[in-house]
Formats: sequence, C-alpha cells, structure tokens
Amino acid sequence: MSKKLRKQILAPFSGEEKKAIEHALAFADRAHAGQTRRSGEDYVNHPLNVAATLAHLGLDYETVIAGLLHDVLEDTVTSKPTLEKEFGETVAFLVSSVTTLKDVDFIAPKEESTATKQLAENFRKMVLATAKDVRVVLIKLADVLHNAKTLDALPKERRERYAREILDIYAPLAARLGIGELKGDLEDLAFPYVHPKEYNELARRVAHVVEENKAYIEHLKSHVKKLLEKSGISPVSVDARTKHLYSLWQKLERYDNDLSKIYDLVALRIIVRTVPECYEVLGELHKEWRPLPGRIKDYIATPKPSGYRSLHTTVFAKEGKITEFQVRTEEMHYEAEFGIAAHWAYKNEDEPFKKDIGWIQQLSDWQKALGSEEFLESLQIDFFKDRIFVFTPEGDVINLPEEATPVDFAYAIHSDLGDTCTLAKVNGKAAKLSTPLKNNDIVEIVTQKNKKPSRDWLTFVKTSKARSKIRDALREEK
Ligand code: MN
Repeated sequence: MSKKLRKQILAPFSGEEKKAIEHALAFADRAHAGQTRRSGEDYVNHPLNVAATLAHLGLDYETVIAGLLHDVLEDTVTSKPTLEKEFGETVAFLVSSVTTLKDVDFIAPKEESTATKQLAENFRKMVLATAKDVRVVLIKLADVLHNAKTLDALPKERRERYAREILDIYAPLAARLGIGELKGDLEDLAFPYVHPKEYNELARRVAHVVEENKAYIEHLKSHVKKLLEKSGISPVSVDARTKHLYSLWQKLERYDNDLSKIYDLVALRIIVRTVPECYEVLGELHKEWRPLPGRIKDYIATPKPSGYRSLHTTVFAKEGKITEFQVRTEEMHYEAEFGIAAHWAYKNEDEPFKKDIGWIQQLSDWQKALGSEEFLESLQIDFFKDRIFVFTPEGDVINLPEEATPVDFAYAIHSDLGDTCTLAKVNGKAAKLSTPLKNNDIVEIVTQKNKKPSRDWLTFVKTSKARSKIRDALREEK
C-alpha cells in the first residue's frame, strides 16, 4: 500500500474520524488482497487514489471511507450488512449506491441505439443518486478520475469508448457541479484518446508559446508584486495559469484556430484576502496598463450562473503584450475549483449533502416523467448547455440555457404566460419571439387573451419545458 497516498488520505482528519479511516484502510487492504489492476499494480492503490481525491476535495470522513471501500461490494466477498456493521449505515448506503453506477463502457453493447439507452439509463441512476445524496456522484467522479489516469492499461477500443464517455457525461457533470479542477483534469486526460491528432498538434503549439513567453510572464509577475506592494496590498499569491488544453481547443474553434487571439492562454491570477482588495487591485492594474475595451468582467457583482466569481480584465501589459488578469479572494478561488464540494466541506451545517439544488430536483422529476430517449434529449438541451441569467422587469432572475428565446423565458415563468405570448421586449426594445437571449437581458412579455401557441415555436425554443408545453397545447387544440 502506498505510504504517500495513506498520508494524503489521513492528513485532514484527527481523533475518532482518523481511527475510522485507518480501520477502512486496513479493511480495503485485506478485502482486495491478491488482486491486481490491468497495469499490474496492487488493486488497493485504486481505491486509495479515489479516497485521496475525496480528501483533497475537503469531503467528510464517511465519504473518504466510502471511497476506500467503493469497489468491495462488486469485486470482493464483502456484503452490505458487513459494511453496515463495520462502518455504519451512511458508508454502506454510499458504497452500495456507487456500485449501481456502472460505467457504460463495461456494458455497452455493439449496437449504437442500445448504447444510447444504456447511457440514458446510467445517467438516470446518477441523477437519482445525486438527488438523494450528492456524495455518491462525487465518489463516482473520483473513481472515474483515477480510471482516466490509467487509461493506457485498457485495450484500445475500450479506452476510446471510456474516454468518449468521460467527455460526454462525466466532465460536463463535474462542470455542472462547479468542480472546475476535476472538469479540466478529466477533459485533458480523455482528450488525447478521443482526438489524438488534434491533441498532439495543440500540445506542441501550446508548449511552444508557453516556452516563448516564460521570461515575459516571470517579469510580469514580479512587476505586479512590486506594484501591489507600493499601494499597500499584500496578495496571497500571484500565479500564472495556463488554460486547460481541451477547453482551449474548444475555444480555438470559435477563433479561426488562431492561438494569438486567445488572450487567456496564459493568465495571471491574483488572489487577495477581501472583496475591496479585489477592486483595488483592478484599479492598480488599470492605472499601470491600458485595459482593452469590453473585456472588463465583474463576476463578483454578477456571478456566472455556475456561481463563478472573479474579476477579469485584459490589458496591454509590458511591451504592449495583451494579457489577461483574474482577481479573486481565496474563498472565491476555492469555490471555483471545488464547487459543490466546497459548499459541503463545512461540517457544521444542519443537513449537509442534502441541500436543495433546483436543477437536481428538476432532473429527478424528468427522469420519472420521460422515456429514455426523451430524457437524454432534454439532458442535451437543458443540462449540458451553458446557462444564462435573464431578468424580469421586476428584477427576478430566470436561469435558462444559452440562446434560449423569449418563448422559453415565458414558459419558464408560467405556462399561461407562454401560451398567450405575442411579443417580447428585450432591454426595452421590441424583439421577435425567436430572438436568442443573452446573459443579463431584461425581458418583458406581451400577451394577448385567447392566443394559442404556434407550431413554428417548436423550431426555435431551447428548453424542454417550453417544447413539451407547446406540444401539449397543440394536442389539446386538435
Ligand atoms: Mn473503482
């Protein structure tokens, strides 16, 4: 058993909790004794890696224990009652729930249509588990992360399929849970197996640019530190971060594949202690270097729908080089990297891990109401799309998928409003019902009594709620 991993797993804990984890370490070691992974290493190193990830995410000791034991029900003679007796009900529940979430890879048959059904089925289970206790999915994601790191050991065909599943399901899921770190890692691990040529080319180009800019970034870092020191701000850290390759690749598609147009390829991240300091730092940067118009983003005043908070600005920095800065507090940084896990890392909450999250509830409702294909369709429409915030004239916030239209907006508020809408005003100007909405738009709906939805609407609505309500109304009319 790896001593290093053992240490990482135990580090955040003490007292009884630490003892319980030590018990689980010994239990996992015994249960998996003699088993090896495809790579030839001791099997137990896999659950140890999973548990180390969970400990790193700041999760509670029972989740860490469940990570250590996540494969014992499936791969060893251990039974659920034994787990209950040794580690309590919660751990037994978490482990048995994770066990039901099989990777599609292992069961996907050759036929594409059956594979789709299986994917939907698997996702359905994941959603149900999330609704009950989000820790189940966090353990699954930690499991997938370690599998992704050891993809080389799988036969070619299976590893490609698994990598694809990571890009299609697990990484978007991590993104939706706000765990930026996990999302970026999963994508970058799967990327070379799904698009090997593109990966190799991009990795080579980026390495070249990073190498070229190394000295410049180092200069810039010490320049910024001195600048802040002069104005009496002592930052927690000033670091350069390079964009994750997969998200860079996706962004490049929108920028003619021109790397020089990606200003945040290498960005400087300044972490400070308080919110006022964030704005002070922004002021100092703008006094020193001229900002590019339209690139100052205040995600502290208006966070992204994912909850992301930070100040972004792009300036003509030293030697006129265009460089992006990101300024945030430690708390904001922690939340950006650890997302949902960060919210539950605080142990004094009354009912941890069972907080009501609107979209999880919504997913769990759909999965009860829809067939597997419809369910998968609605996932692709509503769940994995980037989200925007749109406002009612009264200032209420409506959360919609990107490019949703005023019709989607109306149905999101009330089905009557959707059924009877005739015209929209976006930011005070009359707009077609099919206009794609943007983040922070203010939308007003004009209705007409006895108006009925038009079949046309089905060609442009973006939410499954609008789609199903329109279909209902059309059916009724017949
Ligand atoms: Mn596993």
